[in-house]
Amino acid sequence: MTKPGQQGPHTAAIHGGIDPAEHRGAVSVPIYQTSTFAFPSAEEGAARFGGSSHGLIYSRLGNPTVQALEECVAELEEGAGAVATATGMAAVSTALLALLRQGDHVIATQPIYGASRKLIQKAFARFGITSTFVRAADPAAIRSALRPETRLIFVETPANPTLDLVDLDAAVEVARFAGIPLVVDNTFAGPHLQRPLAMGADLVVHSMTKSLNGHSDVIAGMIVARQTSMLESVRHTAISFGTTMDPHQAWLVLRGIRTLGMRVERAQENAIKLAQWLEDLSSVAWVRFPGLRSHPQYDLAKRQMSGPGSMIAFELPGGVDAGRILMNNVRLITLAVSLGGVESLIEHPASMTHAAVTAQEQREEGITPGLVRLSVGCEDLDDIRADLAQALAAVEDATFALPTTASPPIEENAHIDPHSSR
Ligand SMILES: *Cc1c(COP(=O)(O)O)cnc(C)c1O
Repeated sequence: MTKPGQQGPHTAAIHGGIDPAEHRGAVSVPIYQTSTFAFPSAEEGAARFGGSSHGLIYSRLGNPTVQALEECVAELEEGAGAVATATGMAAVSTALLALLRQGDHVIATQPIYGASRKLIQKAFARFGITSTFVRAADPAAIRSALRPETRLIFVETPANPTLDLVDLDAAVEVARFAGIPLVVDNTFAGPHLQRPLAMGADLVVHSMTKSLNGHSDVIAGMIVARQTSMLESVRHTAISFGTTMDPHQAWLVLRGIRTLGMRVERAQENAIKLAQWLEDLSSVAWVRFPGLRSHPQYDLAKRQMSGPGSMIAFELPGGVDAGRILMNNVRLITLAVSLGGVESLIEHPASMTHAAVTAQEQREEGITPGLVRLSVGCEDLDDIRADLAQALAAVEDATFALPTTASPPIEENAHIDPHSSR
């Protein structure tokens, strides 16, 4: 197999993890749909368990289809190796379980994927692990949150859903200063646009449910390590906690990942044009997209990402009600959570993906009530734009018709929101 960084990203995505000669000439990695592997002799079985032979034993411990995917993603992320997991959350939890113990303290940036926040704040707290959440966009915040017992820094950039960025060089510097690992959730950008390990991060975690698979038909995760030593403890943790991946799942993600670069570039091209178009509309209050000069961290985006990606966040002047009307009126764009698929998806973070986060935390994280998150897909740009235009027109019509102070007096009715702030 080729070494990380040897090939271009499209080549690595297409050829990574397969040597047809190892699979009877098969060009697509076969699905090794088996739970267990026969030992040619009792001695060989003992040697495999003893570690003196690297032959296959049992699919929770290793499976050729899963290994092919691990090799492919490790190469894309420029890592020493990778461990595939059943879900993205399995990747997050396994990485943290591998690196933390009772009494440790974690610094995480916010906003962050809602389930990751709850995992760190609630589930790990039950095992005596404390945490501090600091603002993603503030490069000095991580250092000031350091404590003697801080053992891990966890960041997500671009952050879900506000598209705030974490300065990865600055985060690496703090981690090195403190002598602790930096774990980066690279789901939003993906390896085609951002490679944190090459910048000095220790682990990258992925929800491959998103752009790596890219077809909204699999739930899957991956942990990629910069160094072999950390990889081994991650693998051991995944095997003992049983968070490893199934071969059929691995095959589906391999099938999706072959077109990663093409999908990411096409969706990004659409997103750049849509973000510019949205920003010029009077029916949109503001747009947050790392490829727009109006993004407060536009320069940082240019420094640490090779492209702005395909996630757009925007706010409608009518707040949560306007957002609801927009989402109920899209026809081509699908109202669904998740992201990074070939189809465009739209959702409302405050009431959907980040509903488990308290109102106070949402405010701290910059998740405004009217924030709309759009995952731009690979459809024809004109079709996505036309759909958004007609849905935004429906918002304007509906908010125009909403009762105002000039309307008949209906304020007594507690169930009707007067929308006085529109
Ligand atoms: C979706 C997502 C996850 C969780 O992944 P699952 O595959 O749903 O378990 C974690 N982090 C980010 C940034 C995500 O978008």
